[in-house]
Amino acid sequence: AITVNNLIKSVATQEGELTILNGINMDVKLGESVAILGPSGSGKSTLLGLLAALDSPTSGEIFLDGEALHGLDEEGKARLRKEKVSFIFQSFMLVDTLNALENVMLPAELSGVECAREKAEAMLDRVGLSHRLTHFPNQLSGGEQQRVAIARAFICEPKVLFADEPTGNLDGANSDKVADMLFELNRDSDTTLILVTHDLQLANRCERQFIMQAGLLTEPDDTLQSDPHESGKLASMEAS
Ligand code: ATP
Ligand code: MG
Repeated sequence: AITVNNLIKSVATQEGELTILNGINMDVKLGESVAILGPSGSGKSTLLGLLAALDSPTSGEIFLDGEALHGLDEEGKARLRKEKVSFIFQSFMLVDTLNALENVMLPAELSGVECAREKAEAMLDRVGLSHRLTHFPNQLSGGEQQRVAIARAFICEPKVLFADEPTGNLDGANSDKVADMLFELNRDSDTTLILVTHDLQLANRCERQFIMQAGLLTEPDDTLQSDPHESGKLASMEAS
């Protein structure tokens, strides 16, 4: 579903040119779940932004669902985002002035999906929030807000769902519940899941794990250990 070839992203800064991504290659199949780990500042969010057509690469290729994403103009990127991509953020990003049901309906209505209300109700039921339809974001717990965001992300049946630290603002119990929902919906659909996390337990629930380090992505061939002190690989990652 996603192929990335020698992807490079540089930006101009006051100190000169900064290379954030230094030749990324990756190949992810339709429906797979993938975790990206790595130190702060290593380029994880930058990569997600490029894959989700929020930003353009300096050079290299990205194919998403068979479509060349590099080289698309702003209009092309906007269309691709609307048709194929959803995003979940650490900070939930719900619309404060809309209730849970309206938040979930919004992308469906914008895309002209029929029966948006019925679909939104069904999605909220799936994430266990049938009893919270008319609650506004400030009347929902963090875990509930993120489950609304998940329902919203899946309503248009995206080809790829990107999640940047989806459990980063949640405590253990809420984090587990949000992760359960994500993996359940990923399993029951063709949606490819690409998530960035610092949580090794969450990363290990994905089918594949990648590590980003200083703008380079590698895929270790064994499971990551949840105790960082017992894992040479993770220890070296943390040390860098
Ligand atoms: P974290 O785990 O803290 O979220 P990250 O791996 O997501 O980190 P990125 O947000 O991708 O890291 O940023 C990678 C590096 O690129 C950082 O050092 C950041 O300061 C730098 N960077 C990102 N965007 C820009 C920009 N527009 N201009 C200059 N530097 C940038
Ligand atoms: Mg980030």
